[in-house]
Amino acid sequence: MTNLDDLPIRNDLKGRKPYGAPQLAVPVALNVNENTHRIPEDVAVDIIGRLAAAVLDINRYPDRDFLSLRAALANYLDANLTAQNIWAANGSNEVLQHIFQAFGGPGRSSLGFGPTYSMYSLIAQGTGTSYTDSPRLERYELTPEHVRSEILKHKPNVVMLCSPNNPTGTPLSLSCIEAAYEAVTEATGGIVVVDEAYAEFGANTEASAISLLPGRERLLISRTMSKAFAFAGARVGYLAADLAVIDALTLVRLPYHLSAFTQAAAEAALDHSKTMLATVDDIKFQRDRIVVELKELGLDPYRSDSNFVLFGGLQDPVAVFEALLAKGVLIRNVGIPGTLRVSAGTEAETSAFLEALRQVIKK
Ligand code: PMP
Repeated sequence: MTNLDDLPIRNDLKGRKPYGAPQLAVPVALNVNENTHRIPEDVAVDIIGRLAAAVLDINRYPDRDFLSLRAALANYLDANLTAQNIWAANGSNEVLQHIFQAFGGPGRSSLGFGPTYSMYSLIAQGTGTSYTDSPRLERYELTPEHVRSEILKHKPNVVMLCSPNNPTGTPLSLSCIEAAYEAVTEATGGIVVVDEAYAEFGANTEASAISLLPGRERLLISRTMSKAFAFAGARVGYLAADLAVIDALTLVRLPYHLSAFTQAAAEAALDHSKTMLATVDDIKFQRDRIVVELKELGLDPYRSDSNFVLFGGLQDPVAVFEALLAKGVLIRNVGIPGTLRVSAGTEAETSAFLEALRQVIKK
């Protein structure tokens, strides 16, 4: 037996920690922003039928260009997009990795506005891209002026904008995205990636950066079926961008990266997108309820356009996290002092969290 420190791994990976949100078997798991509703049974039956059909051809490699899935995703996103504007991979994490492989790499730099999604810096690291974490403004907000000046200062090749932002929930205005695009065009001619993993939970779905795509060839919009679509276990992320961007991503993907099962399941789910998204309104309702009830408890929830809420005002977040866990409620300590983050669950799960928190806080 040897251990990691003795292995001849790359120097820049030494001492690094992997992504590691706890996976614990608890009655109420509200820690990784999943949609906690199970998918509707009629959709499940349809998916099984498609998987059964796919298994008969499983001796063959799947469609390497997954054109039929790309057409279904284009159709879901926007009438003006075609299959050629769409990319997909095993979760949007893999989509982001493809982007960094194609547009980042040794000698290239990237910039995100922290606190933000922890995988940006990890994927940057894994692809040999340098990463700058530029701090957000008051209450984790961003303004076009701030975005612009940070990009002009750091001159990144890849700008990461998380909209709404994880872990803070903060919405992002289209004017910030326009400002980022203009600034990076001036600074390096690099790309802007808008990560819209939680877009369907926004107050106004018109605010998607997809409307900004025409005329912006270096704007990339990443999405996922893991959140609103309640499809996290299937691992399907996707991206909308100019045709040439898709050609670039094709250079770095492994052949046949999306299995025939993944393609079949995702296409079946997309055929039922209305039913699959039927829980979104309820989740938004539970999120808004969390915000109201946390304020009543004297806590400080941040503005959220997502399916989770970051809240401050905690003297000892670690103790609160542990006390909730002891009551069977798992939420997330994302390491921002004085705060914890909770996903909006079903009505029953949300009630269980709020009740447990009430008891913990009262002590
Ligand atoms: N982007 C953001 C902002 C996320 O929070 C997550 C998952 N937590 C992802 C991307 C990746 O999700 P997936 O790989 O399941 O699509």
